[in-house]
Amino acid sequence: MPRETAKAKTARLKKIIVALDRTYPEAHCELDHADPLQLLIATILSAQCTDKRVNIVTKELFKKYRSAADYANAPLAELEQAIRTTGFFRNKAKNIQSCCRKLVEFHNGQVPRTMEELTQLDGVGRKTANVVLGNAFGINVGVVVDTHVARLSQRLGLTRHKSPEKIESELMALVPQNQWALFSHWLIWHGRRRCAARKPDCPNCEIQKICPQVGVKIAGKTSNIEH
Ligand code: SF4
Repeated sequence: MPRETAKAKTARLKKIIVALDRTYPEAHCELDHADPLQLLIATILSAQCTDKRVNIVTKELFKKYRSAADYANAPLAELEQAIRTTGFFRNKAKNIQSCCRKLVEFHNGQVPRTMEELTQLDGVGRKTANVVLGNAFGINVGVVVDTHVARLSQRLGLTRHKSPEKIESELMALVPQNQWALFSHWLIWHGRRRCAARKPDCPNCEIQKICPQVGVKIAGKTSNIEH
């Protein structure tokens, strides 16, 4: 297959979006939360941890800690214990506490609504800020690139890059801005339900006809379609 032109890629992406929207009309952030602070905490906890595990932990955590001040003033050992099963709990507890202290000190206990302010907070990188802005405030300033989004963007021939920053830039140039948050959800949902890292279910895939399956082993071969 010849190298795909930018125009052809954009046209194919439109078809991918239509098909994913039809397949996952209910796609949404799978971290349980009722407000921006809860989403911020859940997203920090989700590093190297499944959303399912985070949701189990936050069910109790959110009953106990209801404001940024609650996290800021909690004994660190108690907070560590409460989030222990999400992994890397010492680091996460330290970050949550420092982050919430800054929220209390500089933002009146509220979660700020800009990328710049969010990424000043401890434990909050661009990905976490994108999750919060896109899902708690409906503000699309970037595309969340997690492991699913990175893998699917490569398999779908939307990027050749490996670094999340470069993948994000390419997706921002391709996907309409008002769909940036949704686009991440579609890829994450598809990655979890169909296009698994080790065994993608290509024969039953809803977008197989428009997917070049870049890097996917097919019957002992690896697709080498250029993109
Ligand atoms: S065809 Fe295969 S590689 Fe492409 S999105 Fe579907 S499951 Fe993933």
